[in-house]
Amino acid sequence: MPSSSSPRQDPYSTKPSRHSPGLEEYTPAGTLDPRSYEVFLGHERIEELERLAAPLRGFRWVHINSAFDGGGVAEMLRSLVPLSRALGLDTRWYRIDGGEEFFSVTKRFHNTLQGLSQPLTEQDLFRGYLDTIEENAARAGRIRADLFVVHDPQPCALVNSGVLEGNILWRCHIDTSTPDPIVWRFLLPYINQTSGAIFTLPRFVGGGIHVPLYQVAPCIDPLAVKNQTCTETEAAGRLEGLFRRDGIDPRRPILAAVSRYDPHKNQATILEAFHLLKKTVSSGPKPYLVFLGNTASDDPEGGAMLERLREQAGGDPDVRFWVNVEDNDRVVGALMRLARGFVHISTKEGFGLVVSEALWQGTPVIGSNAGGIGSQVLDGRTGYLVNPMDVETIADRMRRILERPEEARRLGLQGREHVRANFLLPELLRRHLLLLRYYTGVDASPPAFRLNGKTHSEVIHEHYSRRLFEPGAALPAGEGLAAAP
Ligand code: UDP
Repeated sequence: MPSSSSPRQDPYSTKPSRHSPGLEEYTPAGTLDPRSYEVFLGHERIEELERLAAPLRGFRWVHINSAFDGGGVAEMLRSLVPLSRALGLDTRWYRIDGGEEFFSVTKRFHNTLQGLSQPLTEQDLFRGYLDTIEENAARAGRIRADLFVVHDPQPCALVNSGVLEGNILWRCHIDTSTPDPIVWRFLLPYINQTSGAIFTLPRFVGGGIHVPLYQVAPCIDPLAVKNQTCTETEAAGRLEGLFRRDGIDPRRPILAAVSRYDPHKNQATILEAFHLLKKTVSSGPKPYLVFLGNTASDDPEGGAMLERLREQAGGDPDVRFWVNVEDNDRVVGALMRLARGFVHISTKEGFGLVVSEALWQGTPVIGSNAGGIGSQVLDGRTGYLVNPMDVETIADRMRRILERPEEARRLGLQGREHVRANFLLPELLRRHLLLLRYYTGVDASPPAFRLNGKTHSEVIHEHYSRRLFEPGAALPAGEGLAAAP
């Protein structure tokens, strides 16, 4: 099996390898050796990846999203791309090129698809969104691939542009179960133009999709800098500069929250619960609440949200906001490692990679029962599950973590094991390899994580391919449209 082809280069670096005028292409500098994951998952699971990938050598697999940095999708692609390349696939990663107006519209898509009510005008849809898609398409020329994975709403309409030649899957990372009907109906024709759609959970699937559906959970890369494990002392060492800058006493306990500044991330309620906690903590050293957040290039709302939070904190010396920190990944990992508890109480969440990242560091998580958080935070086993707006319970669970260190340690250890078994990168790759095999005809049957039965076009396609051999054969009875799960 090929190992790293250029071991001195950082496979995670996303420096542009080539600028095509429309879609921008970034290629990782190196590859990630699949065998390095055996230490976490054992020999058999890695061997299975090699076996699945063997007939796919040289096949082109293309990802298209909207940002190379910031947010969970970029985080996963930074690892998935070099790992799959090490297995012989010709994997590429493109980013759609958009301006402020485009990202302001797509951020509203993101919010309204997850149930928020925000204005979107005809001009937003046609000028703000479709014009940018068309410009990207016109400049990109044609891109051929054995399988495209188009991530989230931002590049969604590209599927209909005639630029992408090959099977296309739409990868939806968010919960579209109760979408704004206008935005959803605007996007549906594009989604239904694809060869399939991937969702994190079956219940996230919005109505009206008539293509094959698959379930794939996001995963974290245990070899990525932020997920490498270290001792508490090492973690404190990595944070020393920030502690000194902010006058933080490293002997006091820390509660941490890491995410973009976004209305669904619900940081305001974390702050409220922390203030309630401070009123009731009677013994022991006073805790800090550290928010760590970055601003993603496709997320124009972040700055304003951060300002509102700062105002809400009212200069509380126990609350800190770390924004776009230097050496981000080492700081993220160290903060999660050192924190006594991690808080992630989104009101809507696709998956919440940060939850797995914190659990992987052995830190218990207070998580909301929203979206994919519940599959990571098992109440009383890997942390505590709460209602995202229940300030009193959130404050109570914060107190519990601080006052019962043994219980917190047990939850953290169980959390790490839960992530190891379910949410590490090789599993994400395994599912995609199965999709690649199916869509390139290596496997005749769809993978076991297919969520729906045969779709209309599959039934028709099968019928006519059968007729090539049996002229006049009737359309099979009982096979019809598959309902979304
Ligand atoms: N992240 C980071 N620095 C920050 C804030 C977030 O590196 O200041 C990372 C975080 O560690 C995680 C990703 O960004 O890997 C966020 O993914 P998640 O699925 O939690 O949320 P999303 O932003 O995709 O909604």
